[in-house]
Amino acid sequence: MKNTIIFATGNQGKIREVRAILADLGMEILSSKEAGVSLDIVEDGATFAENARIKARAVHQATGALVLADDSGLEVDYLNGEPGVYSARWMGEDTSYTVKNQAILDRLAGVPEEKRTARFRCAIAAVFPDGTEAVTEGTIEGIVGYQALGEGGFGYDPIFFLPERGVSTAQLTQEEKNAVSHRGRALEAMKPRIQAWLRASGKEEP
Ligand code: IMP
Repeated sequence: MKNTIIFATGNQGKIREVRAILADLGMEILSSKEAGVSLDIVEDGATFAENARIKARAVHQATGALVLADDSGLEVDYLNGEPGVYSARWMGEDTSYTVKNQAILDRLAGVPEEKRTARFRCAIAAVFPDGTEAVTEGTIEGIVGYQALGEGGFGYDPIFFLPERGVSTAQLTQEEKNAVSHRGRALEAMKPRIQAWLRASGKEEP
């Protein structure tokens, strides 16, 4: 039987990315829903790392499984780091990203490129079946673009522009995004920790 990881999210965009990035671990990756976990978790941490830990611990306590959780968001320097840890809730959880993205573009109307700097940040927390924990982080630097572009990715991707590539992260293929993204980098940093745990617990795939 394959070793299993529960990735504590209901966001299908994230699950797709995580499955691709962790494919070489040869583990089965289930969303909370697929694992039959339905918890109302209050993400009241002040940082991405704290929120990721809160989610991973809650799902680990309910299942005893190896659980990963992420917390991520967009920091716009001109908006003093907003939406930051509130990225999902900013302007209301049910507000569409077409509206949220347009609101950010409007607030940066007329702002020159050098003041449009922004980054996606991601923290990944792991809680292993024995209760030990690890946290890794990743970032990707860019700018807020001048219009929403691209159909890929999710969330704020259409307005997050990579000047050196001349595209938004919504214009990258999944593979291209995973190779440079905050989540890709944080998960890559977590991989050796998971591999070490598999080895130590004798669960390594032959
Ligand atoms: P979380 O689910 O609490 O981590 O909220 C993260 C929110 O940040 C998402 O709902 C998106 O709005 C935004 N976000 C995080 N990562 C990305 C990304 O890779 N692309 C676009 N938006 C992102």
